[in-house]
Amino acid sequence: MISVVVSGAAGRMGQAVCEAVEGAEDMELVGRADPALGVELASVLGDADVVVDFTTPETAVANASACLEAGVHAVVGTTGFDTEELRAAAEGASGEARCFVAPNFAIGAVLLMEVSQRIAAHMPECEIVELHHDKKLDAPSGTARRTAELIEAAGGNVHEPIHSVRLSGLVAHQEVIFGGEGQTLSVRHDSIDRRSFMPGVLLAVRRVGELPERFTVGLENLL
Ligand code: NAP
Repeated sequence: MISVVVSGAAGRMGQAVCEAVEGAEDMELVGRADPALGVELASVLGDADVVVDFTTPETAVANASACLEAGVHAVVGTTGFDTEELRAAAEGASGEARCFVAPNFAIGAVLLMEVSQRIAAHMPECEIVELHHDKKLDAPSGTARRTAELIEAAGGNVHEPIHSVRLSGLVAHQEVIFGGEGQTLSVRHDSIDRRSFMPGVLLAVRRVGELPERFTVGLENLL
């Protein structure tokens, strides 16, 4: 059994992760950390093999660093913080614990990023439109920033700015529009329910401990 603590357990994503962990036969939910529950991460960390963090951009790096220093693997879904800051913390931490970060745990979003890289090699000019619920703290989204990085690494040119729409009724959506001579090609992914992220989160919980590097970004590395 993998002992799991969820950090941000009272949040929208945290609640969905708690349910998914409780429903997994090979996992046990051993702690729920959240200011709203009056439970600090440090007080439940000792019981965990893996901590899953869906909190805020301000707290994610400190939370993951605390996990690694305690020898606990960290799976980070929070977005909006500087990934390089966390990389430095993870690579400098004592012990052998691993840190895995995914700006998007939905398989469809990962496939959108992969196919966008392939398209960019032939139709490099593109724009990204990301649409999320109105409570989302960061803009542009972590998924959009990661998609832009990957498209540019594949030779594409992502026009500035990335367009961010925030409206109630939305969950998490992204469209990449490529323009060419007399044609456009659009690729779109829609998460219409937070359950879309859960298979990816559970996969990361199962695999984080066996990752070859201390710090890994992107669900594509687990597929
Ligand atoms: P949310 O509903 O605001 O939940 C965040 C929770 O974290 C809140 O309950 C918050 O408590 C709590 N929190 C704040 N500081 C904490 C700390 N130091 N320790 C433990 N818990 C703490 O937000 P959400 O919609 O669930 O999203 C959470 C994050 O996940 C965001 O960054 C979002 O962009 C990201 N996300 C990622 C994916 C993905 O696939 N990677 C998918 C969806 C969302 P208070 O309200 O009391 O501050």
